[in-house]
Amino acid sequence: MRETSESRVVIIGGGFGGLNAAKMLAKTAVDVILIDRTNHHLFQPLLYQVATGALSPGEIAEPIRAIFKRQKNVRVIMREVITIDNREQKVVLKNKETIDFDYLIVATGARHSYFGHDEWEKYAPGLKTVTDGLKIRERILLSFERAEVTQDAAKQNAYLTFVIVGAGPTGVEMAGAISEIAHKTILEDFRNINPTRTRVLLVEGCDCVLPSYSPILSQNALESLQGLGVEVRLHTRVSNITVDGVQGGEEWIYTPNVIWAAGNVASPLLKTLKVELDKAGRVMVGSDLSIPGYPNIFVIGDAAHCRYDEEPLPGVAPVAIQQGKYVAQIIRRSLAGEKRTPFQYKDRVMMATIGRAKAVARVGRMEFSGFLAWLAWGLVHIMFLIGFRNKVLVMTEWMWAYITYQRAARLITDRWPTEG
Ligand SMILES: Cc1cc2nc3c(=O)[nH]c(=O)nc-3n(C[C@H](O)[C@H](O)[C@H](O)COP(=O)(O)OP(=O)(O)OC[C@H]3O[C@@H](n4cnc5c(N)ncnc54)[C@H](O)[C@@H]3O)c2cc1C
Repeated sequence: MRETSESRVVIIGGGFGGLNAAKMLAKTAVDVILIDRTNHHLFQPLLYQVATGALSPGEIAEPIRAIFKRQKNVRVIMREVITIDNREQKVVLKNKETIDFDYLIVATGARHSYFGHDEWEKYAPGLKTVTDGLKIRERILLSFERAEVTQDAAKQNAYLTFVIVGAGPTGVEMAGAISEIAHKTILEDFRNINPTRTRVLLVEGCDCVLPSYSPILSQNALESLQGLGVEVRLHTRVSNITVDGVQGGEEWIYTPNVIWAAGNVASPLLKTLKVELDKAGRVMVGSDLSIPGYPNIFVIGDAAHCRYDEEPLPGVAPVAIQQGKYVAQIIRRSLAGEKRTPFQYKDRVMMATIGRAKAVARVGRMEFSGFLAWLAWGLVHIMFLIGFRNKVLVMTEWMWAYITYQRAARLITDRWPTEG
């Protein structure tokens, strides 16, 4: 039953795309229902800092309900959507409830793809959710503890070895951060092990790190990683991962610490739209981000394959943010009887950080690396972080970490695991 006669916009996903669409629909004569299976918006670009003990989850995630407490036309529902029925114009929730819509915005993001080897997931977790971040943090910290107590030299070496698969921004940032933990943060904390013996390997199938960046920036990133002691293996494909280690090219690396930062696949929910998907499971959308035959159903962000200047747009936050705002504008225009114009992407900023005080950045046509890029990286991330409290807390944590090399959230919250 509808409570009002306003048009209803249903948004699935409270990530960058969904959140910005809902915000843009403030002061519009529509009812917005925002459905997410979690209760929070997560700032994924800083998730690696949770995984490496620099930040706590509450500093990079904000309850969606709190974000919209003053925007009265938004109702938040914490549920998982399992089917989208285009014909009947409704979505079906996991508890079988249905919600009908006049407009639908699908912003369900992406998850890891193990290139057909889903069995690797339990040995090589990826980083997408708060739970993933905490699991990886636990794994890293526990491995140093295990190295400290074992008498077996081979095991100790394995515990002090970390392999990150995939040298995109997440892989590069994780590798830099783990190396810094070993060489700076925990330098004086152990008695049996020398943490500087830690090996951090970054394995990448392409011929460079940060393949989506310019050759100069990726070379700078490579040199910064090497400066931090990270062993970078380029042209190296992973062909097996087990409980004991990982096969990278010809080399078998003994380690229980493999972190997956390689592939993405869009949400399986998109299959229920019954429209064309690309190889990564993303929906092929039109220039107005709607799906064929249904001008009132839009797919945005990581869930969409949107061609722009002949190329598909990358799965990054600025794309999702701009697309969220754009579809909200389209809906407002449709309600006013105005025509649609195609989506225009403004590619302004691209940045990745490599440990303390080092980063690579492209801002417009300008490219730069090092300390200045790191400052710009910090500024942009603080700007886009949701919530004033979080902005202040994260800035304070960063300043403290910059001065002391310490990481505030180095907690293993579980007891010693039973397997040893
Ligand atoms: C570790 C990491 C680091 C990154 N670093 C950067 C970076 O430095 N710079 C950058 O620009 N981009 C970065 N990205 C990419 C960026 O975060 C994504 O491009 C962006 O989040 C996409 O936004 P979205 O709205 O499409 O999806 P998301 O932000 O992923 O949001 C999707 C939402 O949908 C919800 N959802 C999914 N399925 C369902 C369902 N069936 N029912 C209900 N809810 C559902 C999820 O819970 C989630 O809240 C990074 C991503 C990761 C994972």
